[in-house]
Amino acid sequence: MKNLAIIVTLLLMSAILYCCNNQQEDTQEEDQDWASAVSTVDYSVHHDYMPSGGVKLKVKRFPYLPGVFNDRNKLHLSAAKEIGITPIKDVTDIWTITQPIVKVENGPYYYIDELNHSFPYLVPEAEQLLSDIGKAFVDTLNARGGGAYRLKVTSLLRTPETIAGLRRVNKNAVDSSAHLYGTTFDISYSQFICDSVVVPRTKEDLKNLLGEILYEFREQGRCYVIFEQKQTCFHITTRPYNYY
Ligand SMILES: [Zn+2]
Repeated sequence: MKNLAIIVTLLLMSAILYCCNNQQEDTQEEDQDWASAVSTVDYSVHHDYMPSGGVKLKVKRFPYLPGVFNDRNKLHLSAAKEIGITPIKDVTDIWTITQPIVKVENGPYYYIDELNHSFPYLVPEAEQLLSDIGKAFVDTLNARGGGAYRLKVTSLLRTPETIAGLRRVNKNAVDSSAHLYGTTFDISYSQFICDSVVVPRTKEDLKNLLGEILYEFREQGRCYVIFEQKQTCFHITTRPYNYY
């Protein structure tokens, strides 16, 4: 009788162990499926045009954007020097600097344009700000009736060499640029990345929506912003910000 009890106990234990293992394998398989689904999203893919026309978007309209977003370069520089990296001479110095810096890649909220005068790197606070602005843009668009658009980032970290190159095409480019510190990025307001033409929006409405979002972030003390008329972008510098 005692032996029978031991055998039954052993059988029960084996059954429990078998079930646990199976469940673990199922979870692992689900995790793998999810991971492969995530990794198959190619965020570099998009329409290479914006559809004409557009469904009207409910958005705040600023009378004169250059008048609203005109934080002086001096303010950008002081914030950049506080939280940014020591400017580097060459992009290969990225591998040797000890200050935190992250590579910025295409994602669900923004697309990195082909960069001619900068490199896709930012300090972590700036990358976080860019993600938060992009997410607010996408979420607000969804909440107001949809439209599959992302932001287009046109410039990030610069070096003295890339600024010299930029000065040859744009005489207004300043040597003392906050872009040298990895705290500053440019977002186009003349072009947006279109992922679907199902709900088309106008460039003007998307520009105003971006303005509305940047206004809120600036009010929260997270950034300084300049509306660049020649380069048709918002020039944005991350400010020191206490998240807690
Ligand atoms: Zn800029």
